[in-house]
Amino acid sequence: MPIDATQPYDDQNIFAKILRGEIPAKTMYEDAHALAFHDINPQAPQHILVIPKGAYVSWDDFAAKASDAEIAGFVRAVGEVARAAGLVAPGYRLLANTGMDAHQEVPHLHVHIFAGRPLGPMLA
Ligand code: IMP
Repeated sequence: MPIDATQPYDDQNIFAKILRGEIPAKTMYEDAHALAFHDINPQAPQHILVIPKGAYVSWDDFAAKASDAEIAGFVRAVGEVARAAGLVAPGYRLLANTGMDAHQEVPHLHVHIFAGRPLGPMLA
C-alpha cells in the first residue's frame, strides 16, 4: 500500500529494521551516512536501494530536515554505490518515489538505482 509522505516516522518500518540489523539484506555498500542493498524484487538486472541512516520518511522529509552534511553524504553515497557497481559507463537511472501518487511503499527514504539493460525513455 502506498504511504502518506507526511506521516510521522515509524521506526518499525522494514528499512529501519534492516538498518538495525534485525532482518537480513544483501548489503553492497555502507558508510557513515548511507546503506545500500539489493532490492528483494528487482525490476532491472541491477536494482539497488540506497537509504540514509537517519530517520526520514521520504525525500521531502529528508530535504526539509536533514543537515547539509547528511544530504551531502547521502548524495555522495548514491554516486559511490553506482560507481562501485560499475554502472557509470553503461548508465543508470535514479528514482525516489515520494508519497501516495508515486506509490512509495516503504516509509523510510530510499533511492532506487536501476541499471543493467537499456531502460528506455523515462515513464511518468
Ligand atoms: P517504493 O515503492 O519506492 O517504496 O519501493 C520499495 C522497494 O522496496 C520495492 O522495490 C521492494 O521490492 C523493496 N523491498 C521491500 N522490502 C524489501 C526488503 O526486505 N529488502 C530489499 N528490498 C525490499
